[in-house]
Amino acid sequence: MSDTREFVHTIDARDVIVEVNDAWRQFACESDAGELPERALGAVLWDHISDFETVYLYQAMVRIVREQGRRLKADYRCDSPRLRRFLCMEIVAMPERAVRFVSRVVKIEEREAEPLLDAHAARADWLLKMCSWCRKVLVGENDWREVEEAVRLLGFFQREPLPAITHSMCPVCYERVMSQLR
Ligand SMILES: [Zn+2]
Repeated sequence: MSDTREFVHTIDARDVIVEVNDAWRQFACESDAGELPERALGAVLWDHISDFETVYLYQAMVRIVREQGRRLKADYRCDSPRLRRFLCMEIVAMPERAVRFVSRVVKIEEREAEPLLDAHAARADWLLKMCSWCRKVLVGENDWREVEEAVRLLGFFQREPLPAITHSMCPVCYERVMSQLR
């Protein structure tokens, strides 16, 4: 399986999303993130990101791109219940302090549908922490696992409904992004 599309979104000097391409719109629908693509345009980028560590690092990356004109790259996952999608995002300076984000799919793997990633599944009021970047799930103290492993270890299926998911950043991803910023 492959996907050669480029997913593009651009923010202006005030960090407002001023452009998304058609592939980005489609992808937002496919990833079932519960996010309506037409709402993204005109909104401040940070309002779309729920965890504050990711916002902090994203803002640091954008600052470096703007001020030093450097191109930065970040690997991340954007999974759906049936697909593991590995993406790489490039962050590029544009005229007038605008910044463009271009994501490309590096690899796609199919899997058995994973209900935990279904945005429409009913949720309990207890929370599970997921890394916004690699999509691993925190199962114990500092123990981050792939979703399937986490489901097996925590034995969710005896505990309906599924937990709600809150986003955070695992130490491996935090370190990988930070090392580019130094
Ligand atoms: Zn991670």
